[in-house]
Amino acid sequence: MRRADIALYRAKSSHSDFRFFEASMDDQVRERAMIETELRLGIANGDIQPYYQPTVDLETGTIIGFEVLARWTHKFLGEVPPGRFIPVAEDCGLICELGDHLLATACRDAYKWPNDMTLSFNVSPVQLRTSTFGLRVLAILGETGFPPNRLEIEITENTLVSDLNTAKTALGLLREVGVRIALDDFGTGYSSLYHLRNFKIDRIKVDRSFVENMGGESASAAIVQALLGLGHGLGVQVTAEGIENAEQRRALISAGCDQGQGFLFSAAIPAAEAQALCEKDFSSFGKMRSA
Ligand code: C2E
Ligand code: CA
Ligand code: CA
Repeated sequence: MRRADIALYRAKSSHSDFRFFEASMDDQVRERAMIETELRLGIANGDIQPYYQPTVDLETGTIIGFEVLARWTHKFLGEVPPGRFIPVAEDCGLICELGDHLLATACRDAYKWPNDMTLSFNVSPVQLRTSTFGLRVLAILGETGFPPNRLEIEITENTLVSDLNTAKTALGLLREVGVRIALDDFGTGYSSLYHLRNFKIDRIKVDRSFVENMGGESASAAIVQALLGLGHGLGVQVTAEGIENAEQRRALISAGCDQGQGFLFSAAIPAAEAQALCEKDFSSFGKMRSA
């Protein structure tokens, strides 16, 4: 019965008619249960912390702001990537508590940065679907004193697909006080253009997969070029994700992209390192002229 239940759960979550039980499903269920237990403890102990990846002006290399990325180092499991624990937190109702802790900590850290730097924060569909989301963000901004116009919320299309009206209300409330909205992983979903027309979006983030293949694949280069044209035509800012080498940086500059993120500049770093980076006289990663 337990195995049938596992297969049933799988069938439901993959939207298929039926699934046979496989031994590997049992292992995954066990692993998930273990992560859930450890995650509850980890959140209660404050073991999950915000790290910060800089967004830079591609030409000058000047830091414009930082994106919050959750990091969890477990005493036995080691580094647990967000791709492994965020879905568990969403499933077992811990994501709001975790998200609030990360945002409050990040706002306190970012409060000390130079006052033109922005803070970008990822929000999961489950968070945005709760009716209190907008109010909780406002409360955190109030408590920490972080200026709303320096905060940017990153959402993906999945966030919008799951419950459009609740999302619209919360995002509308936040936009009214000056919080900006970015559409993350742009170009990977089914309805990107629909959302661009129906939502007030301030920025699109071109997905890493397009940047990665820009050099070798003419289709990716054409898509990046088209996304930049689209963004600029709509008056929406465009940031490229996952820039790993100087060639990609150069190609993006010549395509007219002004902002980017990626390992070429820096991976996500702890608060103290981000603060040190901000305090450097020239907080920039190599000036570059467009080719
Ligand atoms: P994302 O929002 O698209 O974040 C970008 C991911 O790409 C991060 O992975 C980052 O470390 C990685 N990355 C950045 N530059 C490069 C690069 O040049 N090359 C490559 N190969 N990768 C790069 P990470 O930290 O593992 O996060 C994965 C996803 O987990 C994020 O994707 C986001 O959807 C989610 N996530 C992370 N932190 C949070 C959080 O605090 N809340 C929520 N709701 N989701 C989060
Ligand atoms: Ca993001
Ligand atoms: Ca992304």
